[in-house]
Amino acid sequence: MINHSLVVLNSLSGKKEPFEPLTPGYVGMYVCGPTVYSNVHLGNCRTFISFDLIYRYLKHLGYKVRYVRNITDAGHLENDEDSGEDRIAKKARIEKIEPMEVVQFYTVDFHQILEKFNTLPPGIEPTATGHIIEQIELIKNILDQGLAYEVNGSVYFDVLKYNETYHYGKLSGRKIEELIHNTRTLDGQSDKKNPQDFALWKKAETQHIMRWPSPWSDGFPGWHLECTAMSTKYLGESFDIHGGGMDLKFPHHECEIAQAEAVNKKPPVKYWLHANMLTLNGKKMAKSTGNNILPMDIFTGNNDKFSKPYSPQVVRFFMLQAHYTSILDISQDALDASEKGYHRMIEAVNNLSKHKVFDSSGDFDTDQWIKKCYAAMDDDFNSPLLIAQLFEAVKFINLVIHKAHPISEHQWEMLNKMLPIFIHDVLGIEPEKKSNTATEDKLNQTVALLIELRNKARENKDFQTSDQIRDQLKKYGVQLKDGKEGTSFTLD
Ligand SMILES: [Zn+2]
Repeated sequence: MINHSLVVLNSLSGKKEPFEPLTPGYVGMYVCGPTVYSNVHLGNCRTFISFDLIYRYLKHLGYKVRYVRNITDAGHLENDEDSGEDRIAKKARIEKIEPMEVVQFYTVDFHQILEKFNTLPPGIEPTATGHIIEQIELIKNILDQGLAYEVNGSVYFDVLKYNETYHYGKLSGRKIEELIHNTRTLDGQSDKKNPQDFALWKKAETQHIMRWPSPWSDGFPGWHLECTAMSTKYLGESFDIHGGGMDLKFPHHECEIAQAEAVNKKPPVKYWLHANMLTLNGKKMAKSTGNNILPMDIFTGNNDKFSKPYSPQVVRFFMLQAHYTSILDISQDALDASEKGYHRMIEAVNNLSKHKVFDSSGDFDTDQWIKKCYAAMDDDFNSPLLIAQLFEAVKFINLVIHKAHPISEHQWEMLNKMLPIFIHDVLGIEPEKKSNTATEDKLNQTVALLIELRNKARENKDFQTSDQIRDQLKKYGVQLKDGKEGTSFTLD
């Protein structure tokens, strides 16, 4: 099954490259996880859904994948230049709770939201606080190489010294001269020799509650360090895929490369993959501007951005309709279009499975279609192209079902086998409301009552009321259909 010519866009070269794992048949994949100090952001969900697609497809191709995604529960400061408070400690101080309560609360929230989006859990989900010893060992090692220095209990990575032997900026394309030029001059508050240096260990201020003993001071590790410590521990000194959001390319991933090369003297990662941004109504999402929405607020409809709720499956489908490396804009129109498409696709697959009337071959080349579906995914996990192919099949199925177009047993079997594989296994799209039977029952009972009232109104020739019920329900997305056996309804 692995005999596929998969190519991936490697951020390191900026080119699509044939995917050849370091060990045939096995893939090591590390993805930067969330900093658990607030509810998971919708943009972050897009990143995790993108890597879920990649994980699913690699597994589908038959690779044995070790997928590691960390939880950052310490060390991530407010600003990229190692300044400001620790994000989790700050939240704990404001809420007057333990930092580990903050971590626990938002880790649970993160898992619940990702489960709603039907993402598969990683094989290993390590935490920064669970790997302090490994991080201290790594710092000792970098110090031994002469590529870090200690000042007042803190340890910093010496970027200029590293750049004499290695190349700092090879992933992000930033030039060291420009970095020096663009970085703000030190204000005397920092112990760094040069502004572009980054913290490996920070001495904790007396009031800082998240602290661990080390040879240099009671303190905490720098944010970039945890990913190097944990990826090396679970995937080795060199592994296949490192993923994350585009915004992590610099400085986070650049620093990860520097730390790993400093000790192992070889590139840590063969393929760097980056998922692009999600914008809302054409603008960057940011809490500060109010142009922001939480996943849960979309699912419940409790928000001022969209006039109705959308299910996690529809939002996932919407996200997969764009390539993971393109910027994607979420809006009411876009979600409405995805919702329609999603229902059309699920309905067609259901209809086909029940339609077992075979004839001569219909006008659809299933073997060619399967090849095109795989070609789409083999081209850097191109889910929008795969979905376009799925709709070619939907078009054919609808001809068969509604226009009595012929379908052969072979065509039926191939479609009936491959559609669920592409939709469920690869795209991770499931039918909605599986787990929501209680709500569904309530809806059925409510609509049944309205149908009954409408029938009574019609008997009494009160057509104003009966039309009002039908039209109002239609507005809410409930279509009544009058048939021989009474009235039934469908949801838009
Ligand atoms: Zn990371």
